[in-house]
Amino acid sequence: MRKLLFVLLLMLAFGVVVGCSSGEDEERPIIVMGTSADFPPFEFIADGGEGRHGQYSGLDVAIAVRIAEALGADLIIHDAAFEGLIMDLQGGSIDFIAAAMTIRPDRMESVNFSIPYFAAVQYMVVAMDNESITTAADLDGRYVAVQGGTTGYFFAMDETDADVLPFIRASEAFAALLGGRVDAVVIDSAVAQRFVNANPNDLRIIRDNYAFGDENYGIAVRFGEYDLLDTINEVIAAMQASGELAELYYYYTEGAGAPE
Ligand code: GLN
Repeated sequence: MRKLLFVLLLMLAFGVVVGCSSGEDEERPIIVMGTSADFPPFEFIADGGEGRHGQYSGLDVAIAVRIAEALGADLIIHDAAFEGLIMDLQGGSIDFIAAAMTIRPDRMESVNFSIPYFAAVQYMVVAMDNESITTAADLDGRYVAVQGGTTGYFFAMDETDADVLPFIRASEAFAALLGGRVDAVVIDSAVAQRFVNANPNDLRIIRDNYAFGDENYGIAVRFGEYDLLDTINEVIAAMQASGELAELYYYYTEGAGAPE
C-alpha cells in the first residue's frame, strides 16, 4: 500500500515536471490589472460570481481582457482600494490601472495615461425626500460621503465647506446615504446613475453643471512603459472604432444581459 502511494506520488511529481516543461503556457506572460471593483458599470463583482473575467465584470474589465489578448498574456485582476492604486502601480504589484480613473494633472506627475476612453462628470446623490440640496453650494455644512482619493473627494474637500466622510469603497458611501447618516454622495455620473437605478424609490440625482467640470477616464501605466501604453491605446482606439466600447457600455448600464 505504502509502495503504491510512493509510486503514485512519484508519477504525480513526474507529471507536474513534464507538465511544466512541455506546455506552451510556460512562456505566457502575466499582466496584472489594478482596480477597485465597487464601481458599476466600470468594475464590479458579477451577480452569481460568473463575470467577464473570473468574478469580475464591467467596461474596464472588458478593456483589460482585450489588452491581455493583444499582449498574448494571462490577465490577473488585483482588487484594492482606489486610493492606493497609484502606489500599487509604482510599487510594481500591478501593471496598469483600469478603474474609471480620471486623467488629472496631479496624477500625471506619477503615472502615464492612455488616450481617454470615457467622459464623466460628478453628480450629487441625495435621499428622495431631500429638498434642501439643489446646487453644489448647498453641500456647505452638510455631511457628504465620498470615495477616498477620488475626484468627488477632492471636490468636496477643496470646493465646499461640507463635513466630508471618505470611504474606501463607493458602496460604503451609498450605504451611509441609504442609512441616513449623510446628506449626499458626490460621485461619477454613470456610477451615480447605476446606484439610483438600483434604489429608484429612495435616491435621486442632483446635477450642477456649473460646479463640476468635465472629466475623462484613462488607463494608467508606470512612467516609461511606452510599449504597454502603445498597446493599450491601440486596443482602446480599436474598441472605439468598432463600436464595441459603446455596445459594452450599453450592456453594462442597461443591464440587458451583458455578453460575459
Ligand atoms: N473618476 C474618479 C476618479 O478618478 C473616481 C474613480 C473611482 O472611484 N473608481 O477619482
